[in-house]
Amino acid sequence: MYSIAIDTNKCEGDGDCVESCPVTILAMADNKATVKGDPNDCLGCMACVTTCKTEAITVQEF
Ligand code: SF4
Repeated sequence: MYSIAIDTNKCEGDGDCVESCPVTILAMADNKATVKGDPNDCLGCMACVTTCKTEAITVQEF
């Protein structure tokens, strides 16, 4: 299981993380990335983390 945290103060809204997520958990809302799908589906692949230019996303296993 993974927790996904998005720092909206850092997010610049380019949407690259949304495109990178293989299980479509992330989406844009009000020009910021948000967790829209079921976080239980997160694979922990870190694609969103490495794609984000502003280091706004943290994914942690728990
Ligand atoms: S770690 Fe992978 S599966 Fe989880 S939200 Fe990020 S891109 Fe999607």
